[in-house]
Amino acid sequence: METENNKQVPTEPLFLTKVENLEKEIQELKAQNQNLKDQLNSKILQEQQLALANYSLQTEIIDRQQTEAALRLLLEKLASEKNDLELILDTTTTHSDTIEALLYDKALSLAREVTIDGLTQISNRRAFDQRLVTEWQRLARECAPLSLLLCDVDFFKRFNDRYGHPAGDTCLKAVAKAIETCIRRPADLAARYGGEEFAVILPSTQKEGAIYIAEQICQAVNDLQIPHEASYISGYVSLSIGVSTIFPERQIDPKVLVEAADKGLYLAKNQGRDRAIFSNP
Ligand code: GH3
Ligand code: MG
Ligand code: MG
Repeated sequence: METENNKQVPTEPLFLTKVENLEKEIQELKAQNQNLKDQLNSKILQEQQLALANYSLQTEIIDRQQTEAALRLLLEKLASEKNDLELILDTTTTHSDTIEALLYDKALSLAREVTIDGLTQISNRRAFDQRLVTEWQRLARECAPLSLLLCDVDFFKRFNDRYGHPAGDTCLKAVAKAIETCIRRPADLAARYGGEEFAVILPSTQKEGAIYIAEQICQAVNDLQIPHEASYISGYVSLSIGVSTIFPERQIDPKVLVEAADKGLYLAKNQGRDRAIFSNP
């Protein structure tokens, strides 16, 4: 065999076999090399995936740590609120009787404020208006009479002028008490109608009974012997009273009874005061 530069290349079979073997070995080594390269690439890929997974795990750990811290704070706050509530509950339970009594007293005093006149401590106009309507309806059902008295202090302006307003207040309190002592039935109601005027509701009471109570009230106020030097008709405080009685009916307005009693009061004033006069509705 001859080469370019005419060098002799051995052509013996032994040599040729060797060359062939070497070429085979080179091919195998190349294949092994490729195999190792593939393995290396696959390892690199795995490593990258692991790094990614590790990163998301780290992020989750941080998230969980933050959530845990927030939960711990919340738990502490709840525990403190629970302690406060337990303390309140303990106090409330221990003092429940006192609290109940206080609430009961408060409810009673509120109910009083709504229906009781502040000066005289008898029922006020509001209580009177309500009671008149309820008694009117009840007695209309029962076909029973209802009487009303309207009482007015005589020459009270002159009393105030002579003795002063505070003395006038004291006088009104005494008159209210005197009126209350004359009514005895549970359904009767004495109320401050306004200023120096008082009203008395007498359910199931006929004309004669109503006049009798009115005269008793006049007498009770006279008996107080509250000096009234400025009065033109007596040396003491006196009352004029208008009396009226009706058998209530649903379709009649209760104010007809009030107007009739007012007419009686007007007549009592005109006929000399210090008396009770009946007037029909
Ligand atoms: P009459 O005999 O015609 O009823 O004369 P009077 O002076 O009693 O009637 P008048 O309506 O002229 O005067 C009522 C007086 O009652 C006037 C008012 O100052 C007084 N008065 C009304 N409410 C109160 C009160 O709460 N306290 C006091 N001290 N006086 C009051
Ligand atoms: Mg008056
Ligand atoms: Mg008067």
